[in-house]
Amino acid sequence: MHNVTLIKGDGIGPSIMEAAVKVIDASGAKIHWHEAEAGMGAFEKYGTPLPDETMESIEKTRVAFKGPLTTQVGSGFRSINVELRKRYELYANIRPAKSWPGVKTRFEDVDIVIVRENTEGLYAGLEHYLTHKKDIAESLAVVTREGSERVIEYAFQYARDNNRSKVTVCHKANILKYTQGLFLDVAREIAQKYPDIEFDEKIIDAACMHMVMNPQQFDVVVTTNMFGDIMSDLTAGLVGGLGLIPGANIGKDAALFEAVHGSAPDIAGKNLANPTAVMMAGVMMLKYLGENDAAARMQQAIEKVINDGQFVTPDLNPASKAGTIEMGQAIIDAMA
Ligand code: NAD
Repeated sequence: MHNVTLIKGDGIGPSIMEAAVKVIDASGAKIHWHEAEAGMGAFEKYGTPLPDETMESIEKTRVAFKGPLTTQVGSGFRSINVELRKRYELYANIRPAKSWPGVKTRFEDVDIVIVRENTEGLYAGLEHYLTHKKDIAESLAVVTREGSERVIEYAFQYARDNNRSKVTVCHKANILKYTQGLFLDVAREIAQKYPDIEFDEKIIDAACMHMVMNPQQFDVVVTTNMFGDIMSDLTAGLVGGLGLIPGANIGKDAALFEAVHGSAPDIAGKNLANPTAVMMAGVMMLKYLGENDAAARMQQAIEKVINDGQFVTPDLNPASKAGTIEMGQAIIDAMA
């Protein structure tokens, strides 16, 4: 029995997470769910977006399955996602984007894994105004050798463990010579230790252009925090949108699994949200927990339902009458 903290989240969170939990439970994996709250809902109820009980639960389970949380733009509390990643040193954010035969997009055979540095860079949270008038603001990007080493090492090891052949580091060391330069130097050093993995380096802007012209040339990509955030939405677009992309936040002794997308307030409460991203995050979680058979069963069922195209949410097939609930049930049926 595995203990996992379950945070359903805001907006579309509860509906997609409930669908995902049912599918995970039906996969054969034995999970004891510890439900906890965070985000806007928790803020309205307890006056804090991250109650102590939630932190205590993650402290015990060290594994969390989390729905999207609404973050106020420009004001209010700091992003809980950023807070959790920093608190548990979840230094590597893995975001795989793979084409689905049943999802029509401009490209076929895209199979890219973004490994995003998750705790440093421009998202280190070091931001302030320099004047009382609040007309000059400053944000500090922090890149450390240790932070770079652990995520780049993770990317190469991930490539080796998952039979992938190439790691591309995406950077902006031509302009940001110290922060990005350090990240690139570390990547070049670590690449030497993995002669079996091809190493490539691309400047981030050129990499984006290459990615939309010839995405098949990318395999595993490792990059700093903000570039990884943006680039993983780009790769999501290549394979059919945000509703399909899972994310695993991995630390030394804790991990948090979630979708890449947000709380989608525009479609909340309408049974329209695609649960695939959180379900694929569930598959990543099962693999992390060593439940490889359950993970494979669940992944095959998701693939079958998406490739059939009948019981999928309207973002995947506008003609479909199915919603989140029906899609979840079809996946459970496919596993049986
Ligand atoms: P979003 O990802 O919530 O939505 C962007 C667009 O994609 C919307 O049109 C939405 O309807 C669509 N979309 C997203 N997920 C979908 C799904 N599963 N199925 C179908 N369509 C889907 O991004 P946003 O609107 O910029 O952000 C909304 C809120 O979510 C903000 O408060 C933001 O801070 C937060 N957010 C949270 C996370 C997280 O918790 N990890 C990530 C990103 C954004």
